[in-house]
Amino acid sequence: AALPGDDETGPRRREVRGALWSRVKPTPVAAPRTLAVSREMLGELGLDDADAASARFAEVFAGNALLPGMDPFATNYGGHQFGHWAGQLGDGRAISLGETVNAAGARRELQLKGAGPTPYSRSADGRAVLRSSIREFLCSEAMHHLGVPTTRALSLVATGEDVVRDMFYDGHPKPEPGAVVCRVAPSFLRLGHFELPASRGETDLLRRLVDFAIRRDFPHLSGSGEGLYADWFGEVCTRTARLMAEWMRVGFVHGVMNTDNLSILGLTIDYGPYGWIDDYDPDWTPNTTDAGGRRYRFGWQPAVARWNLVRFAQALSPLFDGADALQAGIDAFGTAYTAADRDNIARKLGLHECRDGDVALMRDLHALLHAAEVDMTLWFRALTDFDAGAEGAMPTLAPFAEAFYDPAKRDAHAPQLVEWLQRHAARLRDDPLPAAERRARMRLANPKYVLRNYLAQQVIDRAEAGDPSGIAELLDVLRRPCDDQPGCERFSARRPDWARDRAGCSML
Ligand code: AMP
Ligand code: MG
Ligand code: MG
Repeated sequence: AALPGDDETGPRRREVRGALWSRVKPTPVAAPRTLAVSREMLGELGLDDADAASARFAEVFAGNALLPGMDPFATNYGGHQFGHWAGQLGDGRAISLGETVNAAGARRELQLKGAGPTPYSRSADGRAVLRSSIREFLCSEAMHHLGVPTTRALSLVATGEDVVRDMFYDGHPKPEPGAVVCRVAPSFLRLGHFELPASRGETDLLRRLVDFAIRRDFPHLSGSGEGLYADWFGEVCTRTARLMAEWMRVGFVHGVMNTDNLSILGLTIDYGPYGWIDDYDPDWTPNTTDAGGRRYRFGWQPAVARWNLVRFAQALSPLFDGADALQAGIDAFGTAYTAADRDNIARKLGLHECRDGDVALMRDLHALLHAAEVDMTLWFRALTDFDAGAEGAMPTLAPFAEAFYDPAKRDAHAPQLVEWLQRHAARLRDDPLPAAERRARMRLANPKYVLRNYLAQQVIDRAEAGDPSGIAELLDVLRRPCDDQPGCERFSARRPDWARDRAGCSML
């Protein structure tokens, strides 16, 4: 039903106090056309290829039609952005269609991104452009196949309507094609959902939201009162820590790590200006609006996550008598991050266990990869075939040739890199893993195919020119990121020179 103040231009934009969500219908689009689907998500939801090819599918997942039982809504959240409390700011362009329990008994919420305005849209249009929708669709699925917790993407549907964003041509705003992504997750709750009622002193509402989240998303937690809340907070912290370690393992840079973009389930959420590390650089950020502060650089992600969790703790503090339980959760973040990081060091370097010296071994390697401008993905992948050889054998950089961007920097650092390989070889000789097992383990931790920024851009350029087939083609490769896929060499190649200074993507 229409809400008071709604009219033919859509829902009335407002600050909604005392409420966590509002009913809102997606705004129909001119010509929905399905551009891509995730085969695995279709299967999880009990749909098949024929469903995905139907006009009905495009209509539902563009927001033009509802299936029986769908009762769409948008949720209300705030957040700390760039280090400051920014008040109510989301969700102005995500409309949930509802929840479904699949054949395996797992609950999935289906959410359209870009399906038109909601009461929380402020002055914006609630729409998304094709390029950022392709990026969200591809990266959600790529992350999943890498084993990194993430929201998923079911579909990408072109709207047949133009959207005007920040692209200019000849000094005039350039209209771009619009699209809607249907994303899927057990829950889309973010830290910012809790901060908003807390910021308004709406403690009852905050408590109801916490109780709801625990009941729905953390059913394995038992107990009651402050003890239960403490366990829950600790688990959110632990999950976030593990997620950070995973991002660092694969070279993913989120780019907008605000409290409104962190999931309480420790899922990667909100694929905006994200990017992937090519040459190893802890200071790199894909977020061009962060060029000065570089708050969202690769190497700072664990620290920024922790900072966000402290804001979350402050929001929850009205539910706690003292600060001890919340401090314990923050401490659990540190412990969990260290453990996950050590586990990744062992897996990436092919070791049965991570000893203290291995942390230094990895740190020294990172410094060298940075100094010598070495591709992170290609280096670690080549390392999976590294043969420790006999004592005194002299390793060479030949197997790593493809990983270097700058021959001069390679030559300048070659002696140190060889020395590092010798240290690593000595360490491997002291490790009990059989060679075949070591290699198998390393290959799983060191993917061959990641969604390099330029690969996504090539697919976008083709799709904008009318050929969306590159989306499925790239997704197919990213589906098995750790396998060698003959004939797919161009998807694992080093970033070409022409793509050097292209950051992730515009924020919008
Ligand atoms: P982000 O920086 O992508 O995390 O976006 C922050 C918030 O801005 C989102 O939660 C949305 O509520 C809002 N937003 C971004 N783009 C739009 C848009 N085109 N229309 C309405 N709201 C938007
Ligand atoms: Mg966001
Ligand atoms: Mg976003």
